[in-house]
Parts: sequence; structure tokens; C-alpha cells
Amino acid sequence: MLGSLLCYQFELNLRMSKSKDTKPELLIQEQLRKWNIQFECHARDLPGTPDLVLREDKIAILIHGCFWHQHGNCLMPRDISKMDSNWQQKFIKSGFYDLNIMLKLSNLGWEALILWECEINRSVYGQAERIVRARYLNSLRLDSLL
Ligand SMILES: [Zn+2]
Repeated sequence: MLGSLLCYQFELNLRMSKSKDTKPELLIQEQLRKWNIQFECHARDLPGTPDLVLREDKIAILIHGCFWHQHGNCLMPRDISKMDSNWQQKFIKSGFYDLNIMLKLSNLGWEALILWECEINRSVYGQAERIVRARYLNSLRLDSLL
């Protein structure tokens, strides 16, 4: 009973923190559905709970907000030099966290793809296509092993 209550609360908290189903994520989901590509959302069994997962292809997709994840080549850069050091430290921590997640996924044999908010806003098609390309390359790799 307690377990299910906590689980419910967890879902609720996630929803309230808006970490689920942010707009860029919905746009990518919509495009993948158009192409009949099956995916799972928020795979909690994997490091970092990737936003989208193509389980058969072992592709994990992380959709990053440019501000929070400090996108290096951002199309909508924001100057953080005047922000207080608490914020800057948060960004550094989140950068290490992201890197750690990528390494963990890779060690488990998953390909981790990061899609950035600004790039999705520029071209949903182009970013969704990266997933299709990764899937294709994985299938070639699997073929060569057989
Ligand atoms: Zn960006």
C-alpha cells in the first residue's frame, strides 16, 4: 500500500516539476509516431531515465533543455556569466551528471543520443532523423556480427 502511494506521489511530483512531456519531447514523439517507430517513454530501468527509448535497437534518447543542460553550441545562447555562483555550480554539477549518465548507458551497451531543445525547435524532422540514422547504423553493426 505504502509502495503504491509513494509511486503515485513520485508520478505527481514528476508532473509538477514539468520534467515529463516537455514540448520538444512531444514534437519528437509525434514525428516518430508518424514514421511508425515504436518507442517507450521515461525508461526508469535505465540510468538517467532516458526520455525516449528504442529498446530493440538499444538506443536511448535524452532530450535536453538548452538552459539547464548548458548547450555548448546553442542556437539561443544565454549569458550566464552574471549569474551567481550557486547557479553556475548547479550547471557544472548537472554537466557531470549528464556525462556520467552517458557513460553508464554506454557501458551497458546502449547508444545514447542527446537531442537539444533549440535544434528540435529548428527542425523536428532533422532531429528525429538522427534517431532513424542511429537505428540504421545499429542494424548494420548487428548484421556484421551474424
Ligand atoms: Zn541549444
